[in-house]
Amino acid sequence: LIQLFIPLNALGFVYREIRQALVNVERLFGLLADKPAIVDAPGAKPLTVAQGELAFDRVFFAYRPDRAILTDVNFRIPAGHKVAVVGPSGAGKSTLARLVFRFFDVDQGSIRIDNQDIREVTQDSLRAAIGVVPQDTVLFNDTLYQNLAYGRPDATEAEVYEAARMANLEGFIHSLPDGYETRVGERGLKLSGGEKQRVAIARVILKNPPLLILDEATSSLDSLSEHAILGALREVSRQRTTLVIAHRLSTIRDADTILVLSGGRIVESGDHLSLLALNGEYARMWHQQHQSD
Ligand code: ADP
Ligand code: MG
Repeated sequence: LIQLFIPLNALGFVYREIRQALVNVERLFGLLADKPAIVDAPGAKPLTVAQGELAFDRVFFAYRPDRAILTDVNFRIPAGHKVAVVGPSGAGKSTLARLVFRFFDVDQGSIRIDNQDIREVTQDSLRAAIGVVPQDTVLFNDTLYQNLAYGRPDATEAEVYEAARMANLEGFIHSLPDGYETRVGERGLKLSGGEKQRVAIARVILKNPPLLILDEATSSLDSLSEHAILGALREVSRQRTTLVIAHRLSTIRDADTILVLSGGRIVESGDHLSLLALNGEYARMWHQQHQSD
């Protein structure tokens, strides 16, 4: 009986995960555009990630033909480096993340990972290679443990606990009467924005992908929780190709390169100090955010 029970249960688990992953992904990237559905190219091969370099090569993109969103976007993230994208709301920052995940195809140019055009690889292999900490993390109506293990359903208990520790969640979990068995989600305990983001970080730690996208990953935190989480984020992005989209410039001043996106174009790029010295858009945003210090 036990032998029969376990595989069936595992199957149910897998099915539920797949269904929830679809919901997650839709909510994560939201919004529909009048664009054809993305399908695998005939004979698409799995992506092979050796180093994990990510490149945008002269990318043009519009959700609708009458309104350009990205215009001639060029940048390269060398393997293991961290590139930050900043810019006003509506500039097209989250669109960059959606394109890397291939929710839409570029209209012109290409996006390449280790020199493979992402349109020529299978979507499954592409998405398996990328970890995302989204702006708003979706929790499933399940235990906290299962919500964490969603990052990698075959993870051992020890790995799940370790990921929770690295994501700075341990103290919070131990403060709950039911600990890891606490039910969360719409029908369970409501987690704060910061706690949900830490769940997303723990999932990424478990997934251990070569590429990482953080979309304003600390935007919903107060400065105290933000401080607690920045260490965890720094830890996951270490030695990992990372694209970080940020509102709060203080969180990305250590990035190897910062791109300023405005009206869908990269208008400035450089590290924090060189952009301050340039005294342009970045410097203006920086001083605006640090008026009160
Ligand atoms: P950011 O993350 O920089 O705030 P986004 O990349 O989310 O900006 O959006 C860039 C622009 O594209 C915005 O003007 C937004 O309204 C528009 N946009 C985003 N998604 C869609 C969509 N699915 N259909 C049409 N327009 C969209
Ligand atoms: Mg955004």
